[in-house]
Parts: sequence; C-alpha cells; structure tokens
Amino acid sequence: MTRTLFTDVQVFDGSGRDPFPAQVLVEGDRITAVAARVARDLRSEARVIDGHGGTLLPGLVDAHAHLGFGSTVEHRSPRRDEPDEEKTLLVAHAGRVLLDHGITSAYSGGNRLPRTETAARKAFAEGWMPGPRLKAASWEGSAGMVEPGVYDFPGVDGRASDPGSVSRFVTDMAELGVDIVKLSLSGESAVVQGTSRIVQFTDEEVAAAAAAAEKHGVWLTAHAHAAESVKMAVRHGIRAVYHCTFADEEALDLLEAARDRLFVAPTPGIIHANLHEAGSEPEPGMEVEATAKAVREVVPELVRRGIRVVPGGDYGFAWNPIGRNLRDLALFVDWFGFTPAEALRAATQYGGQVMGMGDQLGLIREGFLADLVLVDGDPLEEIGVLQDRERLTVVMKDGKLHKAPA
Ligand SMILES: [Zn+2]
Repeated sequence: MTRTLFTDVQVFDGSGRDPFPAQVLVEGDRITAVAARVARDLRSEARVIDGHGGTLLPGLVDAHAHLGFGSTVEHRSPRRDEPDEEKTLLVAHAGRVLLDHGITSAYSGGNRLPRTETAARKAFAEGWMPGPRLKAASWEGSAGMVEPGVYDFPGVDGRASDPGSVSRFVTDMAELGVDIVKLSLSGESAVVQGTSRIVQFTDEEVAAAAAAAEKHGVWLTAHAHAAESVKMAVRHGIRAVYHCTFADEEALDLLEAARDRLFVAPTPGIIHANLHEAGSEPEPGMEVEATAKAVREVVPELVRRGIRVVPGGDYGFAWNPIGRNLRDLALFVDWFGFTPAEALRAATQYGGQVMGMGDQLGLIREGFLADLVLVDGDPLEEIGVLQDRERLTVVMKDGKLHKAPA
C-alpha cells in the first residue's frame, strides 16, 4: 500500500474551523492520520511531502460543471457541432484540466452527449485517464423535450402538457447510466433573450420526472431562474437547484424548509463572464445586469436562511473556460459576502455532500478519501491564490498524486 506523509502544512479541514498545523498521512486511497506528529512506525516507507508551511485543503468540488461544452483555458472550441468522437475527447481533456486546477470532484450540470460523461466517469475512476470524480449528467431537458443543445424555451402556454415524454426522457437517460438528469425548468435569457422568467414545464411534467427519477435511482437538477420554477423544483424534491436568481419570498421559504435535502448553485462565474468577458455588449434581453443584481441580493438571503450554497459557475464556454472554476470562490467572497473560510467550506464539505458522499469526501479527517490540494500560500488570507495553478503544488485524488512537487 502506498503511503504519503504531508509535513509542515496548515490544515484547512473543510469544516470551516481555523487552519491548524499538522501532519497528514495517506495510506492507499484514504487519509489515515491527522496529527501534530504521526507515529514513527506509520511514517516508515512513506513518501514525505514537505509543505513548507503551505495550506492543505480537501480536494475542491465544482457543483455545476460542464465537461462537454468544449472550452478550457488551454483549448477553445467555440463551435458546438463537433463530431461525437471529438466531443468525447473534449470531455476527457476538460477532466484533466479540472484536475490540474485542483477540482478533484465534479457534479455535472449537463452534457451535450451523455455517454461521453459516463465513459469519462469510468476512465477517471479507474485511473487510466486523469480527471475528477464525476457525477455524470444527461443533456438538458427543455420544454417539449427537444433534442440536446436546441434551446427553444417557448414556455407552457400554447402547448399540451406531456408528462409521458418527460418520464420517458428521465428513464432513457437513467438507462444510459447517468447519475443526474437535468431539467431546464425556466428559460435562460443569456441563451434565448427574455426567457429566464418563463417557466418551461407544467407541474404534472415535473411530477412525472420526479417519479421516474425515484424509480430509476437518478438525481434531478433544475435550471431555475424564475420564482415559479424554483418553487416547482422544491415542491417535487429536486436535489440541486441552480441559479434561484429571481426567487421571491415564497420560493425562499420553500427552499429554507427543504434546506437539509437540497443545494443551490448560483453560478456567479458565468454571470461575471457574461458581464465582462463575452467580447461584445450584451443585448438588453439577455438580462445580464439584472441577473447579476438579483443574484447578489438573493444569495446572502439564502445563506442567512441556512441553505447550502455551493460553487460552480457554468465553466466550459469559450469566454468562461474550464480551468477558471475557482474564481467562483473569489466571487462568493466579493459578491455574496462569504468569508474565505465559508467559501472554502462550500467547495469542500458541502461539495462532498453534493456528490452524495458527505460521510467520506470533502473533509480532511481520518477515514476520508484522500482528495487533497496543497497550496503554496494562504487562501484564507487571499482566496484568489487558488486561481493560480502554479501555486497548487500538489493535487491528489484517491490517494494518488496527479501533481507532485518538483
Ligand atoms: Zn449550466
């Protein structure tokens, strides 16, 4: 069994408590000791990594990742009609870039070609391709269940409710082996102008999705800007609710009442990119400014109500490429008023819970999986340090070093 011992590190254990000096021993894929000084017999034959006073964090979790959108900090693929083989390679490439940047777990926010993520999940888990622990998602189901990547967002007026096709969609995706089925319960003004506040599913369609998800053992994620879409998501037990931008008082009350079973990912990264990095002036119908303003108001209220708000910013577009993911933590601090420790806790302890593995992932604790990131610096003083991959001197997943000190 391989042993790795981290010495001279400040441990941020993920719980939010202050960092403390310790040694951390990894045996196989698990953390087996966190102590001021690990006993001599346990140290034998261990590879020793001297942290030089740096900060050891649990591996970071992105709760709204799109491995299949095509663009990373190393490679931009702005087109979306690549052949399937190329899409598969793009997903694998994105996985390696995520891991390079300290993201050791990713909860997918949707995919253009679901089998690419289920294949990548296997390759990453078995270790023959570098990439994060992955929860794989379906393509994003939108109104009328149009084909992947075709966004129409017509709303529910003027079309017949069709719970049967929604149920079939969830069942088909579950049979492909995804972990998560994504439903666009509201439109998205940044994609189709003026649709964020329009609900895209009928109540009975979401009920049918929830029943099929329960039957087949998959999770549901909702894309939900509109207040009514948030309420629908919570009423039907949807576990991850993205955005919540225009949540009203009733939606907030419902979210609060369900806070022990759901997570909210408000995706500041893409909003920031749409504001500042899209390369052209946003059209008014994209509601970019209104979305930014609303989300900055709603998230502190979610936090005040004890709802678990988790990072993940829709990275994967050419103007918001994968690799920038940890900018979300800085935006949690700058936009939402988190302390750095709270932002890190959201990305680690809550991240482990989003992955459905809260009893063994997301904390530096004996018995937990050894997903670890060593930072040359103190992210509690300067959260932005996490965005510099050169300062992430060690990345470990499952006890295996993806990146080791020079
Ligand atoms: Zn997304």
